[in-house]
Amino acid sequence: MSHDHDHDNELDPFAARVRALETILTRKGLIDPAAIDVIVDTYETKIGPRNGARVVAKAWHDPDFADWLRRDATAAIESLSYTGRQGEHMQAVFNTEDTHNLVVCTLCSCYPWSVLGLPPVWYKAPPYRSRAVIDPRGVLEEFGLTLPAETKIRVWDSTAELRYLVVPLRPEGTDGWSEEQLAELVSRDAMIGTARAGQPA
Ligand code: FE
Repeated sequence: MSHDHDHDNELDPFAARVRALETILTRKGLIDPAAIDVIVDTYETKIGPRNGARVVAKAWHDPDFADWLRRDATAAIESLSYTGRQGEHMQAVFNTEDTHNLVVCTLCSCYPWSVLGLPPVWYKAPPYRSRAVIDPRGVLEEFGLTLPAETKIRVWDSTAELRYLVVPLRPEGTDGWSEEQLAELVSRDAMIGTARAGQPA
């Protein structure tokens, strides 16, 4: 994922406080910033999104589960025990050949923690939050995702009440794959809508 230009040049008061605290604790030898980075990365990109990936893989694998996910995502996801804060009310939005779904929180950073873990920095940054609505196609291109001109893009604005999980299109060439194999193709970004599902090697 190449979206590494700097959005956050200025620290807000909260970030400044965190930075100050981290500096003091590091100087006192109480924490190792590198270790903290590893922990954050683990929750941002590994443990958290693996839950969502299993939900998507199950929907690809099991049409009944997909129906349930479409009708009542909260209950369907809860059946896999992926519950908790910031995941109380979920809606799954399914990509189709005609329509691509993209999730944003224009107001702040609402995000389905129970299935995706911690939000990436860019998701919380003002440029993504404003531009995803104004120019979703341009934003997707910056993520390296160029959609056919005829594909509609539907943008979903998360709130504290309702959070979204994108179910990407199942890649070609995955007939007969197990849920575990399928889950490996589902990235965090694919479930936000800024990427496609991975292709089979
Ligand atoms: Fe929010």
